[in-house]
Amino acid sequence: MSIANNIKNIKTEINSINVKLIAVSKTKPNSDLLEAYQAGQRIFGENQVQELVEKYNTLPKDIEWHLIGHLQTNKVKYIAPFISLIHSVDSIKLLKEINKEGAKSNRKINCLLQIYIADEETKYGLGFDEAIELLSSAEYKEMQNINIVGLMGIATNTEKQSQLKEEFYELKTFFKGIKESFFKNNDEFKEISMGMSSDYKLAIEQGSTIVRIGSHIFGNRDYKTE
Ligand SMILES: *Cc1c(COP(=O)(O)O)cnc(C)c1O
Repeated sequence: MSIANNIKNIKTEINSINVKLIAVSKTKPNSDLLEAYQAGQRIFGENQVQELVEKYNTLPKDIEWHLIGHLQTNKVKYIAPFISLIHSVDSIKLLKEINKEGAKSNRKINCLLQIYIADEETKYGLGFDEAIELLSSAEYKEMQNINIVGLMGIATNTEKQSQLKEEFYELKTFFKGIKESFFKNNDEFKEISMGMSSDYKLAIEQGSTIVRIGSHIFGNRDYKTE
């Protein structure tokens, strides 16, 4: 299967239900991204700042770039001028920095709070309590140059469908509570970024609005980057 065909097949699968497809292109060469681009794909996700900036500089300017991996505060400045969505906000410190750099670029930067849902110790993310604490803080309420548009989660790397389902369900349920408590009259808070190549169908069943798909489009990566 070609990259173009993979994109078309996934799009057909998810378009009717209004789920957004992020083509996760980390480690892949520009030629692969262009093939996806020519098949109509315009949203790409990367997990490393340097690689993302290099691709942004060399590929067509109508691409929307999403950062999906852990972001260090000292690197925010490189992506603040152009990034479309940061999926991986996992601390108030990071959010403050994004707000500061957003102000410098005269932008309001769209962000998702990354919520910890996996049964693994290595994954980044905010616990439910930490997310609530962040959203309740005076510091957050003063930020003018960020826009929290939803939540993101990475499920456990397992094939157990019942566990994956449970984790996605938890994120969806938490999303509903957060929407009700903090974003009731804010139509922009509507995204749940969950689901990757191996589990996106299950994630969509549980209410995902954004799926992040890499290997299912571009083939396996040569090395593990998470
Ligand atoms: C790499 C990555 C993906 C895509 O993974 P695939 O299994 O290749 O689809 C999705 N989300 C995040 C955060 C990633 O780092």
